[in-house]
Amino acid sequence: MMKTNTLRFKWSLWTAVTMIITYILLAFVLLTALSQWLLANERNSAQISLSELQNYMGARGPFLTIQDFERNTGLLNQFLSRNQSAKILNQDGIEIVQINPAAPYPSFLGPTEAFRSVEVEGQEILYRAVEFQLGNDSLYIAMSHSLTSYSSMFTYLLWSIILFGILFVIVSGFVGYFLSGILTNPLLQLKEAMQANMPGQEKQAMLSYNQQDEIGELTREYQRLVERTKQVYSMQEQFIGNVSHELRSPIQAMEGNVAMLQRWGKDDQEMVNTTLDILKDEIVKMKRMMETLLDLAKQHEVHQEWVNVEDIIHQAVKDTSETYEPILWDIQIEPVKLWFSNILLYQIITNLLSNAVRYSQDTPSIQIKGKRVKNSYEICVMDEGIGIEEQHVSRIFEPFYTVDETRSKQYGGTGLGLTIVKQLVERSGGQIEVTSVLHSGTKFRLLFPINNK
Ligand code: ADP
Repeated sequence: MMKTNTLRFKWSLWTAVTMIITYILLAFVLLTALSQWLLANERNSAQISLSELQNYMGARGPFLTIQDFERNTGLLNQFLSRNQSAKILNQDGIEIVQINPAAPYPSFLGPTEAFRSVEVEGQEILYRAVEFQLGNDSLYIAMSHSLTSYSSMFTYLLWSIILFGILFVIVSGFVGYFLSGILTNPLLQLKEAMQANMPGQEKQAMLSYNQQDEIGELTREYQRLVERTKQVYSMQEQFIGNVSHELRSPIQAMEGNVAMLQRWGKDDQEMVNTTLDILKDEIVKMKRMMETLLDLAKQHEVHQEWVNVEDIIHQAVKDTSETYEPILWDIQIEPVKLWFSNILLYQIITNLLSNAVRYSQDTPSIQIKGKRVKNSYEICVMDEGIGIEEQHVSRIFEPFYTVDETRSKQYGGTGLGLTIVKQLVERSGGQIEVTSVLHSGTKFRLLFPINNK
């Protein structure tokens, strides 16, 4: 049984309904026009016959007598066609002669202006009566034109239109049903694929529809969405795994130290102090990591304004210099104002600068360049530090990814700094890329759109 709330059913139904309405309107117009035309023809032929009779009477009238009529009905017959009949009536409406008794008459009520269609004895006729002079007598010709052939023609036409209409509706219903199938079948396939691709479902549905039309586009978009969702899913899983792993080490360290203190050193003041120091360090590490994770999770809109890039970079340079002295700076900034967030730009630059310092040996040498490139503003942060081996370069933006864990941890690194930088840059419509040569240095290139807001 066909479901009535499906797109396919509605499509077929509405196609059929529209077709029926259109057909009925069309048939109505056609039938009315045809019947008018046929009726006008009949009226015309009746009028011609009557006029011929009148002309004959008019021409021969003075020489004719009623007896002549009675004798010559055969001659008068020639003026009429088979479905027509005429009567000659006297002043009182009494019939004198009837020519060709083919059609019935209504009761005589005097002369009429034109042919009228009337129903007599269940038969449609056109009827008219006119006056004429015969010598000194005033007589009437009454004419009856049977509409039987017109009626049967009309009935025939009506039935043909009805039968053809039924056939037309059935065919259009079927055509609508099959055409809608072309549209709805791939949609149903898509729905099944969506159900099968739900997270947690074992089987993977493949979509076979590959036409270059709207549904094809929808299918391809959906496939892209599925791929993206899978990626995000696995990234999320990996991220949660990493977070728990990273949190486990400080917790284990704290647990071990507390257990040792309970067992051996409650009364040893020195051991109590050392353990408290270790606990404090671990708590600070965990706090820093929590803050960074919270930063990463923040997705809300930040306040944007016209930001003077030069000022922000100088502020970041100043703050970095205060934390990690000494540093050799080479700064060339073409002034520009970007529609951006002050805080985010500062966070991006300081993160890159602290990395440049932390991953340099001896006195860090850092170069910062800022200039317009077409419709974008390019900021490059370059160092002459330890560099990154090629196989690690593509992964340094991944959460918790550190090339050298010991070195990273030494400065309180979490492996989340560059993940945040990339997220902030991309959230503001920018791009970030990195090139690095081991033992020689690393270059981060940022591109921000200059929008003329
Ligand atoms: P971390 O907290 O470990 O510094 P980041 O996300 O900031 O985490 O960086 C990820 C890794 O990328 C770092 O552990 C480091 O190995 C590498 N890295 C980042 N910046 C530089 C740089 N300027 N020079 C060399 N290596 C870098």
